[in-house]
Amino acid sequence: MANCKIVRIGNIEIGGPKFTVIAGPCSIESESQLKNTANSIKASGASILRGGIWKMRTSLKSFQGLGEDSFQFIKKVKTEVGLPLISEVTDARQIEELANVVDAYQVGARNMHNYSLLRELGRQPKPVMLKRNFSAFIDEWLKAADYILNEGNDQVILCERGIRTFETATRNTLDLNAVVYAKKHSSLPVLVDPSHAVGISELVAPLCYASAAAGADGLIVEVHPKPSEALSDGQQALTFESFDQMMRQLEKVLNAFDRGLNHA
Ligand code: PEP
Ligand code: MN
Repeated sequence: MANCKIVRIGNIEIGGPKFTVIAGPCSIESESQLKNTANSIKASGASILRGGIWKMRTSLKSFQGLGEDSFQFIKKVKTEVGLPLISEVTDARQIEELANVVDAYQVGARNMHNYSLLRELGRQPKPVMLKRNFSAFIDEWLKAADYILNEGNDQVILCERGIRTFETATRNTLDLNAVVYAKKHSSLPVLVDPSHAVGISELVAPLCYASAAAGADGLIVEVHPKPSEALSDGQQALTFESFDQMMRQLEKVLNAFDRGLNHA
């Protein structure tokens, strides 16, 4: 489709000529972790902060997120640093709880088929980023977005985050076909999450460049002050330095396509 819908997170326009980079930790772990990461990614050119408050973990024994305990310091960090925040809702009851904490809601891969959650998100005004389930057909992903749109919320962004294939060397397989297909057959902006797609920090940067070259509207990338100490997904997190290096190369790729970065 020729015209992409513009979706606004804070004052950042996603889906226009500029490329948007969302970055931050997998899980919000403390005020200092969030603040240091936010300052660093902003200085490198990211314009939106990410961070999980409630986590969908495979094992019940894994860190489940700080939940309500983190709301006060999250609001403080956002104001101090001046970045909007996107975070995942794992249950419809969290929509209202998070309404004055986040600027956009993320629907995780595991909840892509949770149509009652999607409907609820369609009945409120904040933007929603819908991740593709790791075993969903592109068509199922695009149809899931309709559950949000149909309730009246047109602020919907699609996010490709890797699918399960026969390959086990990487965490998932980044489906760039899905990115170019969704750009052609949907009017919604399309982001790529290379972190969950590949699952190995050294392999994240090249996939960022490939996503930009493929015509994605932006990226969502996991960054942590000390990946080896992260409470979730440390193996795929970029350090502040590696994120900054990636951003400098990314700008060159974008320039080759006459595009630039959205700045906070
Ligand atoms: C995440 O973004 O931290 C996450 C859990 O992603 P996904 O839902 O794609 O697994
Ligand atoms: Mn993660």
